Amino acid sequence: MSENGKFSNGQHTSVDAIVIGAGFAGLYALHRLRSMGWKVCVLEAAADVGGVWYWNRYPGARCDVESLQYSYSFSSELEQEWEWSEKYASQPEILRYLQHVAQRFELRPDIQFNTRVRAMRFDEQCEHWQVHTEQGEVFDARFCVMATGALSVPRLPEVPGISRFKGPVHHTGHWPHEGVDFTGLRVGVIGTGSSGIQVIPQIAKQALQLNVFQRTPNFSIPARNTPLSHEDQKAFKQAYPAHRARAREVGTLYEFSDKKAFEVSDQDREREYERRWNKGGVNFVHAFTDLMVNKTSNDTVADFVRERIRRVVHDPAVAQALCPKDHPLGTKRICVDIDYFETYNRPNVRLVDLQATPIESVTDDSVWTRDEAFPLDALVCATGYDALTGAVLQIDITGRDGVSLREQWRDGPGTFLGLMTVGFPNMFIITGAGSPSVLVNMVVGVEQHVDWIARCLDDMRRDGLSTIEAEQSAQTRWVTHVNEAADKTLFPLAKSWYLGANVPGKPRVFMPYVSKIGLYRAECDRIAANNYEGFKRAGLGDASTAQSHTPSDMAVRP
Ligand code: NAP
Repeated sequence: MSENGKFSNGQHTSVDAIVIGAGFAGLYALHRLRSMGWKVCVLEAAADVGGVWYWNRYPGARCDVESLQYSYSFSSELEQEWEWSEKYASQPEILRYLQHVAQRFELRPDIQFNTRVRAMRFDEQCEHWQVHTEQGEVFDARFCVMATGALSVPRLPEVPGISRFKGPVHHTGHWPHEGVDFTGLRVGVIGTGSSGIQVIPQIAKQALQLNVFQRTPNFSIPARNTPLSHEDQKAFKQAYPAHRARAREVGTLYEFSDKKAFEVSDQDREREYERRWNKGGVNFVHAFTDLMVNKTSNDTVADFVRERIRRVVHDPAVAQALCPKDHPLGTKRICVDIDYFETYNRPNVRLVDLQATPIESVTDDSVWTRDEAFPLDALVCATGYDALTGAVLQIDITGRDGVSLREQWRDGPGTFLGLMTVGFPNMFIITGAGSPSVLVNMVVGVEQHVDWIARCLDDMRRDGLSTIEAEQSAQTRWVTHVNEAADKTLFPLAKSWYLGANVPGKPRVFMPYVSKIGLYRAECDRIAANNYEGFKRAGLGDASTAQSHTPSDMAVRP
């Protein structure tokens, strides 16, 4: 890289692989590929590493996977030396961790920051990708790795007049670095998903008045966050090899049950929910094996949570409005909170139930529902993301025969293994649609994908090949398999971002692959070992070779 922090110095730059994004996925991809001798450059829109953890600086932001697990496993030195301060790490701590990783493995020299990729074109003649940035630079590489994140394109609500609002409007996914002081202000929060549920209790402590505009109530489980002592960590770290091996099979080390909900008595079932509720966290949804596949079983756990909400929230009408009714528990990403429902007992917090009185417009100083005006000094949108496909499709990507990815995915993302899509050779997507992705611990998913890509590139180098691409028949079968896997569960019953339901006009396709990551990993490895069955691999100018692929019989488990 040149002295001004740029690779290209305004000129055309060639490397072996371009990685787009410097979050968990991009950092590991850089480290892994570079250590195999490839020349790699990372292009990152932000001014530093971190990905979502760079942007999501809202008060209360923290991960709902335990910190000792939400961390890389590729370096035993790293996992031993890094000390986490809490059971669930806050955003600043995760960002510090990723900055440490960048420093420790000397990654920054190969990352160009403040560089947003605008377009990518596959040059069929030389079988290279040309990557164009918003600044007009051009990068060139045989391979591209899309480490662009599953939840990285924030969405503002489609509310008439929102641009007229004179006060500040902050999206949780794009929070000002200098922080926001809400002291003495009348604040409105739109959105009650994971981000809203985290930010609302924090803003409530500062604001003069907080109005929460809720369209759909969500299930949330108390985090029961605690500080982590050195001794707690030492014990876990001593067993890291075993913990990591298990995580590669199951994603996150929850306490998995071996019983169905109706295999125990009503009292025992209630006791189990109670025990898990008191323990806190996502572990709660693993109380019985059939909660995500049997609606009657799911009703028992949903009723338990609704009862808890009624116990916590003093005003029965508010409690009722906060009780989720339109989807089974867990079919939208379960939220994990610190004092979320308790916040509605504060005198300065009001829940505005948009199902009773929808937002009609925003004026320069107020949000107007059908029944009332809410004068506000600041507005916070915790309104989510164009998930899984948003970041990839934000880039104008053209593959073979001038086909645009936006056009190809008009009816939903088609991928083979979630890793590649037909007609876009040598373009890998990390934790994309069609892979377990957001349904598992993201760091485990990221490492599995990067390791597979690294092996794939190494095998190509060994075999003297220049391109790999998904084969149409394999992709078609994979997409069918991913849909069937989702249809065996309750997931499709929710209008969730997993399905694209939060973005008007987005095709309704269940995007993540519902599978235990160990089974998915085994399938990816089997395919690689079987001469990349279902992919076409070729040398420069060669006739392509394709192998037929049928997804092996993989058990489905959320
Ligand atoms: P989200 O789950 O998509 O929630 C968005 C919220 O905004 C929903 O309540 C939605 O209501 C509401 N909304 C959207 N448009 C609206 C409109 N026009 N009017 C009124 N309400 C509107 O987004 P998120 O909370 O940012 O979370 C996204 C994902 O990021 C999570 O599911 C999780 O995977 C991840 N995340 C994780 C953590 C963590 O680890 N603890 C924290 C934050 C985020 P509807 O439901 O009615 O559409």
